[in-house]
Amino acid sequence: MQINQLNREKLRELAGIRADGAKVLSLYLNLDPSEFATGQARATEVRSLLDEADRRLRNGDWLTHEQRAALRQDVERVRSLFSAGADLKGAHALAIFASGQAGVFEVVKLPRPIESEVVIDDGPYLEPLADLATVGDWAILLVNRRMSRILRGSRDAGFEEVFRLDDDVHGWHAQGGWSQARYQRGIEKEIHDHLKRTSEVLLRRLRRGAFDLLLIGGPDEAVSAMCERLHPYVKERYVGRIEVDVENSTADQVRDAAAPLIEETERARERKALDRLEEGLGTGGRAAAGLDDVLAELNQRKVEILMLDPGFTAPGVACPQCGWTGTDAPSCPVDGGEVERRDDIIEAAIQLAIVQSAEVIQMRHHAELDNRGSIAAVLRF
Ligand SMILES: [Zn+2]
Repeated sequence: MQINQLNREKLRELAGIRADGAKVLSLYLNLDPSEFATGQARATEVRSLLDEADRRLRNGDWLTHEQRAALRQDVERVRSLFSAGADLKGAHALAIFASGQAGVFEVVKLPRPIESEVVIDDGPYLEPLADLATVGDWAILLVNRRMSRILRGSRDAGFEEVFRLDDDVHGWHAQGGWSQARYQRGIEKEIHDHLKRTSEVLLRRLRRGAFDLLLIGGPDEAVSAMCERLHPYVKERYVGRIEVDVENSTADQVRDAAAPLIEETERARERKALDRLEEGLGTGGRAAAGLDDVLAELNQRKVEILMLDPGFTAPGVACPQCGWTGTDAPSCPVDGGEVERRDDIIEAAIQLAIVQSAEVIQMRHHAELDNRGSIAAVLRF
């Protein structure tokens, strides 16, 4: 059984799958090393995921007899994948897409934890993957009274649309039989529901680490109504508003509209982190610099902000079981397991940072990390 890594090509391939009337079973399995470090914990998570899939099929009155029978076989195929001891090394989550009817069986390792989930639909359920395959810390929400679009990315990597919600709220014209007031109340309720759904999508994405900072574009009225409905966690990440057409602008047009605000924000954010770093290093307090010291703090889950020069790489070793990362070690000091030698451990370091909910900042506008070994950290305690 071939297990693939997630990249943009893989995502495009999955998006191209046509099920032609068959149903596709999509399973997401969380393997977050901080929650599911032991084989036992993983086995339990696998079992409850498959139980959930069974339950969906038992209650799947909306499926035809043939679809249900085919999906039952798909679940069995996934079950035997795990009982055969699938190689989960290095995966923080797994995505599985199965449809015997459509000739699909794909298993993809994911670099970040994702909530476990079962979805049965007309094609592979790819929404959680779209965020992972996109590079960048920024989310841009474009919102009006009926449509929401979310783009993810960065100034360097560009932006990609990862989500679109079209809640078809009726126009403001009166319609047969309804009084104007009653009709208007109906519309207001629909707009309210649309903004509420949008707010929930943003919160879910923030929770799985899909973005750090948020911009919103749209008509005045929609943006302020949206801001009022943001969850407090999401609101903390809200930076400002951009001027852009909600429904028709391209990803590049959105990027250009957002560029000045993004640059200004990034400069200020880098400056603030560097100031805290210097203060911490100066007083021998909550800061670390240089690869070895920073890795030691990451391994202890003490990092609040990880700072890196863009393009910085370093060879080292990483433990595929628990995620421990170092420049060298004969075996994992945490669980004694075998370590893997890697040409570049910075990606592993960034993953460790993400798992401990640290902010990760690539220093694009300031060069001060050059004297600090190109990597540094501000610590929580
Ligand atoms: Zn280990």
